[in-house]
Amino acid sequence: MNGNAHMASVGDGPTDAQYEHGIQVIDEDKQFNPHINSYLQATDVSEAGFNYHLISVFGSQSTGKSTLLNNLFGTEFNVMSEAERRQTTKGIWMSKNKRASMADNILVMDVEGTDGRERGEDQDFERKSALFALATSEVLIVNIWEHQVGLYQGANMGLLKTVFEVNLQIFQKDKQSTPRSLLFFVIRDHIGVTPLSNLRTTLVQDLTKIWSSISKPQGLENSRIEDYFDFAFAALPHKILQPEKFVSEVQELGKRFIPGTPRSKEQGENGKQELAGGVFLPEYHRRIPADGFSVYAEGVWDQIVNNKDLDLPSQQELLAQFRCDEISREVLVSFDEVIAPLEEQQAESTHSGKPVVLPDLGSTARSAREKCVKSFEVNASRYHKGVYKTKRSELETKIDQRLKALYHGQLSAAHKSGVAAFSDAVSGKVKSGQKSGAAYEFAEIVDKEKKKALESFEKETQSLYIEGVPWANFKPQYQLFEKELDAVSARLRKDEMRRLATRVERWVKSRLGDSIGLEFNKLGSGRAGSGAPETGDKPPSEKDLWDRIWNVFTSIVKEAEGRFAERAKSFEASQDEVDVGLWRLRRKSWVALREKIEEEVMEGNILLKLRENFEDKFRYDEAGVPRIWRPTDDIEGVYTRARESTLTLVPLLSKFRLSTTKESPDLPGFIGNQPPSAEAEDEEDLAPIGGVDEHEGKSLEEEMTVLSENKRQDLVVRFKKTADGVYVEAKRSAIGGIAQ
Ligand code: GDP
Ligand code: MG
Repeated sequence: MNGNAHMASVGDGPTDAQYEHGIQVIDEDKQFNPHINSYLQATDVSEAGFNYHLISVFGSQSTGKSTLLNNLFGTEFNVMSEAERRQTTKGIWMSKNKRASMADNILVMDVEGTDGRERGEDQDFERKSALFALATSEVLIVNIWEHQVGLYQGANMGLLKTVFEVNLQIFQKDKQSTPRSLLFFVIRDHIGVTPLSNLRTTLVQDLTKIWSSISKPQGLENSRIEDYFDFAFAALPHKILQPEKFVSEVQELGKRFIPGTPRSKEQGENGKQELAGGVFLPEYHRRIPADGFSVYAEGVWDQIVNNKDLDLPSQQELLAQFRCDEISREVLVSFDEVIAPLEEQQAESTHSGKPVVLPDLGSTARSAREKCVKSFEVNASRYHKGVYKTKRSELETKIDQRLKALYHGQLSAAHKSGVAAFSDAVSGKVKSGQKSGAAYEFAEIVDKEKKKALESFEKETQSLYIEGVPWANFKPQYQLFEKELDAVSARLRKDEMRRLATRVERWVKSRLGDSIGLEFNKLGSGRAGSGAPETGDKPPSEKDLWDRIWNVFTSIVKEAEGRFAERAKSFEASQDEVDVGLWRLRRKSWVALREKIEEEVMEGNILLKLRENFEDKFRYDEAGVPRIWRPTDDIEGVYTRARESTLTLVPLLSKFRLSTTKESPDLPGFIGNQPPSAEAEDEEDLAPIGGVDEHEGKSLEEEMTVLSENKRQDLVVRFKKTADGVYVEAKRSAIGGIAQ
């Protein structure tokens, strides 16, 4: 088992034991490790947002870079064994700082040595790793032997040249943010003869020379090195010769890996910015949220490896799109957990035909929405602002589409159940009012129940309100609900009117039964003065029978109309509705009268009346005294007169005709025209009336015919027979009287 056995290299799945040495970001075959995010999760970096830092180290092969990092950050990057002296670090490794009292979440990248001793003349990897480091890191540690300082042509200078060139290449595309980086020179095996300040001066001169020597892209010809870089310098003693001093100086150096402020920058020599205090200035940060780092790094590496122009702004946009989508999916999962069961419940209840008003839907949905948007905001707002805004509104649209459907279902259920409850409550109260016999005010019941129903519906709509969300306004639904309540009220009022009409019609029938019966009974007494001889009132004349009937009828109907209208008004029925009711009442009353007359002129009944009329005239004298027939009496004469007098009733009875006008009463005028608001259903149960309903093909003449020609003749024949019988009996009694 060699030393690499416990390293997490590209292609391996993550396990905790494998992270002992950190993780290999890019291997010697230039493959990117797809498990970076797992590592960041395992080391609690991925939740850190922007609160993390990236440092890369550069320098020649075997200059003690890994040793430095391990001592500085407590990492366990592989170090070349003293005995073997061959390259150990392959590709780029990353590990989280393990030392306390530094900035949070420092990620250190150990970049493969750049002498190309084992890679031959492969400058390509050097360039690529420099690009990668610059695109991601805030601080670049440049590790250099003291004796290399001033060797302008040395390998280190070649490396710096590469760094500067790729820096220009990268940030040429990213002019808005112009991110800066810190070049932190750590001078190794510092003997102490030459003070650090002298070394620094030499390095700065070299750097300036290198900067001026590189070819700059168009537009950046006059750019200065300090436009892109700040500088910091430190020197360390020989690790092997002065081990204790090395350790304490490294410890001292470690104190600088804390957040810095712009004030810690001071003007160094030659106008170069030199950083004195904490190394992590906010302006160095690449502003890639920790949870997007792996995706971003992979995208950047992909462009680098494929020799594409590294375009960091568009990488950031791509990253934002990718991550915002991912975050959106994540936050939708918890939204779904709350909302999907409600959607199911609603779908089921709707399907079963019994829509259910889900309890507390408004508050539940609102908090789910809020949580979802909030947690999206927290995680995604760190990404590219434009992309974030678009994705946020996409998310909101998605959420709102579902809530909208849910809310509409809810209100439709509330509508249905509200209307049913209203209708039940009104009908129930009317019924119990009728049962108890107590006076109930229909309009009051409706008003009260409508108010109740509207209040509860409004409460539901208010509970669904979401601040700042225009669609969460349910005024149209509320208006629709109110409209439906009014329609239901109108229907119930119509029922109530029908009930009232039935009551009034019954009353009319009963009054007609008594009064019309009385008028017909008067026919039975044929003698003048037999009605009320004592009072001296004018006796009823048979001739004005129909006038009296019509008068009685119209006055009863008038009274009924008054009752109906008064009661109907109390339900707040409209004038139109009242008019229709009155029109129906008049028609039905006429039909009732017609039936009553029919009953009175039924064969047996009318024959009896005629016989009584005749007998009255025949058997009683003018003074109302019963006649005792004597053989000398003109029985035949009296008989003939009485009979003819009674027979005059038959044509009178046959037609409903007023004595004053000799015409039928104005029935169509009495009933009146059909009110325009009467609907077809209002007519359904109405019997056609001759002369009124002209289309029925029955004339007023026919309507007013009480006895048909046949019936009349038949009645005359039967009456005559009856009268003859009476006559014969009288004759017999006269003769019998003599015989006695
Ligand atoms: P890297 O290739 O730059 O990462 O170098 P390593 O950290 O693997 O070290 C290479 C060799 O240099 C090892 O044998 C170390 O023991 C040795 N070394 C480490 N630190 C120092 C130092 O400060 N001074 C000297 N002279 N040698 C060192
Ligand atoms: Mg190394």
